[in-house]
Amino acid sequence: MLVVNIEQIRDRGISLAGDVPVDQLPELGKLDPRDGLFLGPVKVDLRLEVAGGMILLRGHLGAAVEQPCSRCLNDFILTLDVEVSLAFEQRNDENMEVTEEDLELSAEELGVVRFDGDTLNLADAIGEQLMLALPYRPLCSEQCEGLCSRCGADLNQGPCGCQPDDKENPFAVLKNLRID
Ligand SMILES: [Zn+2]
Ligand SMILES: [Zn+2]
Repeated sequence: MLVVNIEQIRDRGISLAGDVPVDQLPELGKLDPRDGLFLGPVKVDLRLEVAGGMILLRGHLGAAVEQPCSRCLNDFILTLDVEVSLAFEQRNDENMEVTEEDLELSAEELGVVRFDGDTLNLADAIGEQLMLALPYRPLCSEQCEGLCSRCGADLNQGPCGCQPDDKENPFAVLKNLRID
């Protein structure tokens, strides 16, 4: 489903809709299991069309990721809904006059993905879009209380009993003073 023939798109575009198993998206394997796990399948709802000599990919991706919360460290399931808008350009002989390196650079600057041949494999692009959508600091909830910095208790379960001000209290030291 993720490998499409350019000729087919030329006619009247292609719609891709359905479920893609996670193992068909190798990019997702780059996610360190400690940082998260794609539960799959990835829901794909995409449209491919030719415009201005380029192939435009637009639509939505849906996926569920199990990630540890960056505050309380509990695993939680995050639902991703990613809006996709990408452009692809077929490499041709004309372009080859420029060095390969220049090509990659200018293509990247324009946000255009280049590809060779008559087929376009969307697996990497889709995987990349999902990886980019992962939060830098995942949170199980905006209100997550996190862990106590002293005893490590999960403060979402209630207060842990530590006195939060002990260290700041200048008189706390006096408790340990002995007066002979
Ligand atoms: Zn949390
Ligand atoms: Zn505590």
